[in-house]
Amino acid sequence: MKIIKSIKQMQRLAVSLKKSKSIALVPTMGYLHEGHLYLVRKAKSLAKIVIVSIYVNPLQFGKNEDLSRYPSDLTGDLKKLKSVGADFLFSPTHKDMYPSGFQTNIHIGELSKTLCGAYRPGHFDGVATVVSKLLQITQPDMAIFGKKDFQQYLIIKQLVRDLNFPVKIIGAAIVREKSNLALSSRNSYLSESQRMHATSISKALHSMKKACQSGMRDIEELRRIFIKTIELLRDVKVQYIEIVDRQTLQPLLQVQKGRTLIAAAVFVGKTRLIDNIEI
Ligand code: AMP
Repeated sequence: MKIIKSIKQMQRLAVSLKKSKSIALVPTMGYLHEGHLYLVRKAKSLAKIVIVSIYVNPLQFGKNEDLSRYPSDLTGDLKKLKSVGADFLFSPTHKDMYPSGFQTNIHIGELSKTLCGAYRPGHFDGVATVVSKLLQITQPDMAIFGKKDFQQYLIIKQLVRDLNFPVKIIGAAIVREKSNLALSSRNSYLSESQRMHATSISKALHSMKKACQSGMRDIEELRRIFIKTIELLRDVKVQYIEIVDRQTLQPLLQVQKGRTLIAAAVFVGKTRLIDNIEI
């Protein structure tokens, strides 16, 4: 696996590779886990060349968020990427990505106003801007995004449609621990007991799904299942639990099979975790 830091070098190489080989991009912020590796494996199965980017994008972090303490382990990441056969690791510097004088920002409309977007103003504009840059630099035929960040996945699909990027956006299922906790780099912030509490998020989502399958359709009744389960726990706070249309992310008045997403953001201590389930 080749490690590339320079934007120019990555772009030149990608332009030349693209002439004869298909390229898949897997954008990440590093501190890789099995969820990320699943995306890389999927990329490997779909394209000849796999480029994984590791870049903690300051544009997508709010003032009081965890940019300065975001976990990193480049040595561990390299080992993991080699083990799954990634071809290139692209990890640019901040100075190269946002040189002084940088002044362009992509603004996302309606899709960025619900769920996480309602609580993280500017977050998805920051994501859209960095992903646009990464797509320009790595010239992929396809890019793989995890459905753990379902809103991000939809927004990137919308972005490439709206701006005519010649790239296919592919969604990958959520990878979970045995306990069903969705894997996340941010799980590393959790203490042992917080980790236990965090497993209730997926359990509560699952209870909602089961209730739906047994015929419960009332949105408020369903949300109460989640809130009741989660708010019993010490040090845990629900930021949102929403039942939305899977394409527009607009709130639904009634659960509709095959069209519904239940999405949640929960603080466990100071750590903000997200998860979702499709119905
Ligand atoms: P991150 O490094 O957290 O920005 O994530 C990079 C990519 O990995 C994004 O497309 C995420 O949606 C995806 N990802 C993170 N965790 C998981 C998971 N548990 N299962 C599937 N994809 C994931």
